Amino acid sequence: MNEFHLNGIGMTSQRTRDRLIGRLQDQGIRNFEVLDAIRSVPRHLFIDEALAHRAYEDTALPIGHNQTISQPYIVARMTELLIEGGRLKNVLEIGTGSGYQTAVLARFAQQVCSVERIKALQEKARARLKSLKINNVLLRYADGNTGMKDKAPFDGILAAAAPAQIPQELLEQLAVGGRLIIPVGEHKQVLYRVTRTETGFQQDKIEEVKFVPFRSGVR
Ligand code: SAH
Repeated sequence: MNEFHLNGIGMTSQRTRDRLIGRLQDQGIRNFEVLDAIRSVPRHLFIDEALAHRAYEDTALPIGHNQTISQPYIVARMTELLIEGGRLKNVLEIGTGSGYQTAVLARFAQQVCSVERIKALQEKARARLKSLKINNVLLRYADGNTGMKDKAPFDGILAAAAPAQIPQELLEQLAVGGRLIIPVGEHKQVLYRVTRTETGFQQDKIEEVKFVPFRSGVR
């Protein structure tokens, strides 16, 4: 099914996308540039064709290997929190998954480094980002517990999977003034914003969330 056909039957039409944007605004997303990014990044290209008709629903959807493409609301919310202080130079994402959040982040950072532990997902994400001509992204197949030391420090780090506790390495790879947006917890998860200050870390609870677990090792 190509984009023309999808558009033809209205599943990915501008109207469908605008409806999603309205929903995100109702849920409190205010950053105009973030809303614009969600409106323009073609989410239907980041999921299987069989699910493409649901691409602009505000819901997580399966992408195989027991993983999901993140809900648009949470992608918008985390991006908004990450860029609150302005555009970013160097961002680290843990959990490339479909590459959807990566594509959104790529609009707000000079460089996005993204780590994924499932090779098959990473390969698909790489092909999608390439076909969309998104070139400021560095994908690495690795366990995100250790971040990406050789590319640190980062002025923003975003995790798309929830660890029981914040991995120490991620905190260490934050630049002073940089922020980490991460869901934490096993059954009940809370989204945190951790800001590195001159003297330590400031931790703010944002809201309750539901993410896939942050795992160890690669597959
Ligand atoms: N933002 C992605 C979300 C994918 S789901 C999207 O919208 O498509 C979370 C992803 O994190 C999964 O692909 C999972 O394999 C990955 N993940 C979980 N633990 C990880 C780890 N320790 N290192 C790297 N990736 C991890």
